[in-house]
Amino acid sequence: MNTLDQLVLASHNAGKLKELQAMLGARVTLRSVGEFSQVEPEETGLSFVENAILKARNAARLSGLPALADDSGLAVDALGGAPGIYSARYADGQGDAANNAKLLAALADVPDAARGAQFVCVLALVRHADDPLPILCEGLWQGRILHQARGDHGFGYDPLFWVPERDCSSAELAPADKNQISHRARAMALLRQRLGL
Ligand code: IMP
Repeated sequence: MNTLDQLVLASHNAGKLKELQAMLGARVTLRSVGEFSQVEPEETGLSFVENAILKARNAARLSGLPALADDSGLAVDALGGAPGIYSARYADGQGDAANNAKLLAALADVPDAARGAQFVCVLALVRHADDPLPILCEGLWQGRILHQARGDHGFGYDPLFWVPERDCSSAELAPADKNQISHRARAMALLRQRLGL
């Protein structure tokens, strides 16, 4: 069995690698799957879990190393969990501003009490490409969708996501603060526990 000193992260995003490496600590080194291939797998799953496992298996197959993948998004109660796994491409690939505009339009008639939502992050770790028992860790971050954007930090839906425990939007949090309490931080804390880190 491979040791877990080195994990290949199933992402080509250098920012994400840096963020997850900081959360994981120094005992495990994350390497990018981009070292092995530039081709990204199609995310054909119907759930965060399926897509995270699919990406982790692909990275392990390409690298011959244990691999970690994260799949994340925003699930809005009043929309039956949409945009969910389609969060990045909610407005057909037109980017964050278009995604946010589409979300506000979809919730135009929805009152505050029914605007609950959660950011979701699923981490999947496979020891090898055919691992029958992936380690799965889920992080949820509960909030509410605002009526208009607030704040300049972060990315994606952060300006529309109200964080009740801090009384501000996710985009008004300093990045280091967000990284203490976000869905990704929660999933990563579970992974660290699971790996004894
Ligand atoms: P990815 O899995 O990190 O690529 O994220 C998928 C999509 O979910 C992103 O493109 C964003 O639209 C949304 N998303 C995930 N995490 C966050 C977050 O922390 N803030 C804002 N949007 C997020």
